[in-house]
Amino acid sequence: MSTSETDITKQTTTGNFIRTIIEDDLQSGRHSTIVTRFPPEPNGYLHIGHAKSICLNFGLALDFGGCCHLRFDDTNPAREEIEYAESIKESVNWLGFQWGEHLYYASDYFEQLYQWAEQLILQGDAYVDDLTAEEIRAHRGTLTEPGTESPYRNRTVEENLDLFRRMRSGEFADGARVLRAKIDMASPNLNLRDPVMYRILHAPHPHAGDSWCIYPMYDYAHGQSDSIEGITHSVCTLEFESHRPLYEWFLDRLGIYRPRQYEFARLNLTYTVMSKRKLLQLVQDGDVAGWDDPRMPTLVGLRRRGYTPGSIRAFCERIGVGKSDSWIDMGILEECVRDDLNANAPRAMGVLRPLKLVIENFPEGEVEMFTAANHPQRPELGSRQIPFSRELYIEQDDFMETPVKGFHRMVPGQEVRLRYAYIVKCTEVVKDGDGTVVEVRCTYDPDTRTGGPAAGRKVKGTIHWVSARHALTAEVRLYDRLFSVSNPDKGGQDYKSFINPHALEVLPSARLEPSLADAEGESRFQFERQGYFTVDCRDSHPGAPIFNRTVTLRDSWSKEQTA
Ligand code: ATP
Ligand code: MG
Repeated sequence: MSTSETDITKQTTTGNFIRTIIEDDLQSGRHSTIVTRFPPEPNGYLHIGHAKSICLNFGLALDFGGCCHLRFDDTNPAREEIEYAESIKESVNWLGFQWGEHLYYASDYFEQLYQWAEQLILQGDAYVDDLTAEEIRAHRGTLTEPGTESPYRNRTVEENLDLFRRMRSGEFADGARVLRAKIDMASPNLNLRDPVMYRILHAPHPHAGDSWCIYPMYDYAHGQSDSIEGITHSVCTLEFESHRPLYEWFLDRLGIYRPRQYEFARLNLTYTVMSKRKLLQLVQDGDVAGWDDPRMPTLVGLRRRGYTPGSIRAFCERIGVGKSDSWIDMGILEECVRDDLNANAPRAMGVLRPLKLVIENFPEGEVEMFTAANHPQRPELGSRQIPFSRELYIEQDDFMETPVKGFHRMVPGQEVRLRYAYIVKCTEVVKDGDGTVVEVRCTYDPDTRTGGPAAGRKVKGTIHWVSARHALTAEVRLYDRLFSVSNPDKGGQDYKSFINPHALEVLPSARLEPSLADAEGESRFQFERQGYFTVDCRDSHPGAPIFNRTVTLRDSWSKEQTA
């Protein structure tokens, strides 16, 4: 798989409030250039919510000629893995964004962060606490009641420094002590009630190796990392709004450069879940086939499903960036990929649930070739030849022995057009012992081919087909939404009880036009009247592609012309 399909040079972030702030900052001379960052923790795969943050941060940098750092916020070795970091890099590139030489790891700052922690101790701004995690929680107070000061809060600077150094040297067990900022146990903002800065954890680190047994907490590491890198606009999601005073407190006490933090509303998307914990659980419990299962909202999953990077960027542009929490309908994401594929995907004919059609008056052994445009609006995409013969496959759905009202497709005694080819008339129905239709027979009108004397004759329906003996037999996987309710997280019921049992239907022997045999991984097609399909990049083999349904058609062609 190539890492990047498109290297983009512009991501329009028009009209969001952060953009306005940046314009003002550049105009007033507060900054001459901007530096943003995308700071994932390498503890899972990126999902569509992260794409919003990526498009925003990298997009702003592109639009204003600044740069955007990719920084791994890797302060918790217990949950982090190299595999995740690698996948994150690949996904950011795939979306079309480049960090250039600006790849950073918070863990590379561990020594500096440690030195700053000693500085805070020396200033009387931090202390070593021997309370357990539960005791600290119990002392924290509530939104309406102040917290209680730890009995260890007023240790001397010397004692704190000695204990902290011994924490670092590995003298104490996990959880025995922590380093806390000495701020205000009565602050109305709970984040300022002496937050923990360091904890003891005897565990190797995927990037930093085994040099540390104390690790900084996110809140202590994040702002200082921004400061070290000279970030100008530190953009994060709304839940960090109440952390901003702490972000500023650390930087001010240390007397170092203070970037400004801005918060925007995270993406909430219907019919899926985005918590990494839940996504991991779905993978571990085997509810999906992996992080890149095409039902997953992960970027690797969406990619395998057939989403293009451009469609995801278009989605992020379309939903905008605001300050109040809202829900975005999954239909909008689907619409974005549909728009992209409608404009760009070559057309093909594929019969998903085949029914044999025999043309009685077409000579046995003869093959006729029809020319089909690869795209109705884009002649530059060329055309291809499609073989036609006496035995074809049509869609089971396109035949009704006793038609319902308005059904204008294959019906006994009725004419229907075979797309790109002839008008045929159904003459006979063949059934098996159970009464199931196993074959339909018809006659064709030789004058109705393109250029023929009766080419213009109108019939009410047009259906797609493939020649039986030329067809490629392929597995087609029909994917749909992972959950069957719009908000699987709501209502106190286990979200897993809402998994959509029909989110994957495997059709083992669809019949596709032969040109598709050579389709390579990730190539995308519109199967006429059926939807958009992408070659599965994991399970396909050369000459034997497996197709994933990316999204259904908006359905105008089939509704208008064949219903
Ligand atoms: P957690 O902190 O639970 O591991 P997370 O989703 O916040 O999960 P991070 O790796 O910390 O994971 O996220 C990296 C960046 O992506 C952060 O700046 C975060 O604000 C942003 N982000 C995460 N989820 C969303 C979302 N749903 N919408 C927009 N931005 C998001
Ligand atoms: Mg996070």
